[in-house]
Amino acid sequence: MVVLERDADLFSRARAISTDEEVLRIWQRLGLAERLKQDMLAERPVDFVDARGRPFITASPVPRGHGHPPQMFIYQPALEQVLRDGAARYPDVEVRLGHECLHLRQDPDGVELTVTGPDTAAPNHLRASYVIAADGGSSRTRTQLGIGYQGRTYEDRWVVIDTKMLQPWPHHDRLRFHCDPVRPAVDCPTPLGHHRWEFPVLPGEDEQDLTTDEAVYRLVARYGVTRDSVKVLRATVYSHHVRTAARWCTGRVFLAGDAAHAMPPWIGQGMAAGVRDAANLCWKLHAVLRGQLPPAALDSYEAERTARQGDHQAGRVRRRNHHRPTPHRQRGTHPAPATPGPRARLQPAPAVLHWIPHARYTTGLLAPQRHRARGRQIPQPFVTDPHGHHRRLDDVLAGRWLLLHARTATPQSPWDRACVPSLTIAPPGTAPARTPSPTTTASCWTGWTVTTRPPSPFAPTATSTARHPKAPPCPRPPGFAATALPATTTA
Ligand SMILES: Cc1cc2nc3c(=O)[nH]c(=O)nc-3n(C[C@H](O)[C@H](O)[C@H](O)COP(=O)(O)OP(=O)(O)OC[C@H]3O[C@@H](n4cnc5c(N)ncnc54)[C@H](O)[C@@H]3O)c2cc1C
Repeated sequence: MVVLERDADLFSRARAISTDEEVLRIWQRLGLAERLKQDMLAERPVDFVDARGRPFITASPVPRGHGHPPQMFIYQPALEQVLRDGAARYPDVEVRLGHECLHLRQDPDGVELTVTGPDTAAPNHLRASYVIAADGGSSRTRTQLGIGYQGRTYEDRWVVIDTKMLQPWPHHDRLRFHCDPVRPAVDCPTPLGHHRWEFPVLPGEDEQDLTTDEAVYRLVARYGVTRDSVKVLRATVYSHHVRTAARWCTGRVFLAGDAAHAMPPWIGQGMAAGVRDAANLCWKLHAVLRGQLPPAALDSYEAERTARQGDHQAGRVRRRNHHRPTPHRQRGTHPAPATPGPRARLQPAPAVLHWIPHARYTTGLLAPQRHRARGRQIPQPFVTDPHGHHRRLDDVLAGRWLLLHARTATPQSPWDRACVPSLTIAPPGTAPARTPSPTTTASCWTGWTVTTRPPSPFAPTATSTARHPKAPPCPRPPGFAATALPATTTA
């Protein structure tokens, strides 16, 4: 696998500042989640405050059961360094920095790329079976393939300020949405001693002037922040886009990340959605290249990922008390245009904040058998393995196709013929039933028998085709023509 990156070094500008439990679950598969978490901030409450700094909604993100904190704050350059170092562990992954793809041409057997690099004057050529174009919102590949990027760009522009903390100030460690009708602001702690502010550019303001240190200190002064509190690292003005590529795949070329979709940063899902794209696509490409999946299975990438475009609708705040919510409060997730006016009744209200919606595939590479649980992602409880080790479930699944039984394993001939091992999980305090294959005792969340898709280092977190114990036998493994399923998948 060859990765081409135009920039010679890491992009020093932090853009993403937060990520979610599902993304951490994907990075767990790469063996990097715990290392990445060392550089992250977790479990910060979210305050929506009025123009005088009084909170009227305080919410704590609630986990969806992926085995990681629901929301983590990141410092993107540090995170990218860990991911890049992580890629270096794979001898068959070659990262070529300072290499730009100028052009690509497809034929029935592969894709030819024209590439410039730092050491060669003339472009050279690379041949690949498949190409993932994750070349950003202004993707040259997308343009070259003639694929539209439909949607809109908001007129409002926002100045995004990253700072290094020198000394703390009140509330510096909370994510605060300042719902000031005159100038709303996002005010967010980021790890490794950083802090982020985001402000809209007001009509008549000069964008260049607004990004000077003087202007930045004027903007943050109202929150008690001075030159003694922070050093300004950079201030950049951004537009917000809501756009989706008209197609995510043409022949052997797939769009991923911002090349396929763009969304406003409010709830921190742009990068997260790109990580999910890669997770969805890479295990399938791997299986196709090994002849374990038919190429047609790759069609499920766009079908499944566009079905999850609800990603950007994440982050709903639900009040827990019984006051009738005002319309302003109901719109609390979108602080800028929905800021409560000064006359709004303001009272702190504890709220439940679901940072991301439940993953649910309604279409794609799914078993034909219909069931309420089909296409849902299985949660990731901590389990106790046969050696008595307390582990996250995905670490026990270890990137294999598995039949996961709750309490009792029943023979499943298509899967047994494909040599798929089975695993039994049981609720705490109960012994698992004897199974034909290696067993694991686990604290269990449900009584379903679940078949999981094959997770790989780049694969999605397990998505289920589930069946009730009394239902007929499991259908054939979805999409697979071959009898032998991959025992373990690697990058
Ligand atoms: C202010 C702001 C805040 C944000 N906050 C969050 C957040 O909190 N959480 C979150 O999840 N998301 C957030 N996002 C969104 C997130 O930053 C983007 O969705 C994400 O960076 C997109 O990643 P990408 O790899 O698809 O594209 P990019 O980050 O644009 O990367 C594309 C890469 O491709 C390279 N490239 C381009 N063309 C070529 C070529 N021809 N050949 C070789 N290489 C090429 C570029 O050099 C670049 O490195 C935020 C965005 C902004 C602007």
